[in-house]
Amino acid sequence: MTVAPLTDSRPTLAVWKFASCDGCQLSLLDCEDELLTLAGAVRFAHFTEMSRSTIPGPYDVSLVEGSICTPEDAERIKDVRANSRYLVTIGACATAGGIQGLKNFAAAGAYAGAVYAHPEYLRTLESSTPIAEHVAVDYELRGCPIDRGQLLEVLLAFLAGRRPVIAGHSVCQECKGRGTVCLLVSEGTACLGPVTRAGCGALCPATGRGCFGCFGPCEGANTSALATQLRETGTDEFEVARLFHTFNAWAPAFRDQFETSAALAAATSGREVRRDDGVGR
Ligand code: SF4
Ligand code: SF4
Ligand code: SF4
Repeated sequence: MTVAPLTDSRPTLAVWKFASCDGCQLSLLDCEDELLTLAGAVRFAHFTEMSRSTIPGPYDVSLVEGSICTPEDAERIKDVRANSRYLVTIGACATAGGIQGLKNFAAAGAYAGAVYAHPEYLRTLESSTPIAEHVAVDYELRGCPIDRGQLLEVLLAFLAGRRPVIAGHSVCQECKGRGTVCLLVSEGTACLGPVTRAGCGALCPATGRGCFGCFGPCEGANTSALATQLRETGTDEFEVARLFHTFNAWAPAFRDQFETSAALAAATSGREVRRDDGVGR
């Protein structure tokens, strides 16, 4: 008697890593209470943080973590795209080039020479760029790392064939929602909350420190208005430039404000924001 193979009609989910620290992938594993339910609803087809086995594509949903930093990855992402019905990028690396995107502002090789004893062994691109600069992306989920609740909403939405419902407003709204006194207004603490996308629940202001923008620009981020406010509350231009020059430095809104403030700082105080290590001197 021939036994027919079992069929599995669950949609397939693949998780791909590019240049990244794995923190956003771990946010998926961090969905402790929901992970078994999710595993019952989808087949994990490729997820090396969780399993060595891989099911061949095509895949219903691909989650992509990390930026494009090597010629090989610039080709590999095209294969991922070709094999994915929906491609969702997760985290600051994948959506804005990540902290490694600081090298986009520096001379070619400046970072490699500062970090590695033998940079001649490296074969990398001169830039770190978001996935959307290479292939079409169906949705970008921001954060460093991403918020697991937002990740589950995105997954459920794509599995159900609808658009994700993710807030585009700023951290300030979350800050007000939880009743935190504004640090920028009350203490003059530098805070990127007004231009940063919500998702963390205004974690940093709730613990007494300003937001440093790890969720990237919110919709309609008015960075020049915030820069004016920061100057008026005592932050010098050099620090304003530095604030916009971290995890999401290559996101256009933050990049433009960094360039403006870095030029102003150099012209008015002679302080140069270094382009070879991303920190000031
Ligand atoms: S966005 Fe942050 S947490 Fe996610 S992979 Fe990049 S560095 Fe890691
Ligand atoms: S502390 Fe920051 S995030 Fe909170 S309301 Fe003030 S500016 Fe906005
Ligand atoms: S408050 Fe700002 S820096 Fe802190 S976790 Fe939220 S988005 Fe990131």
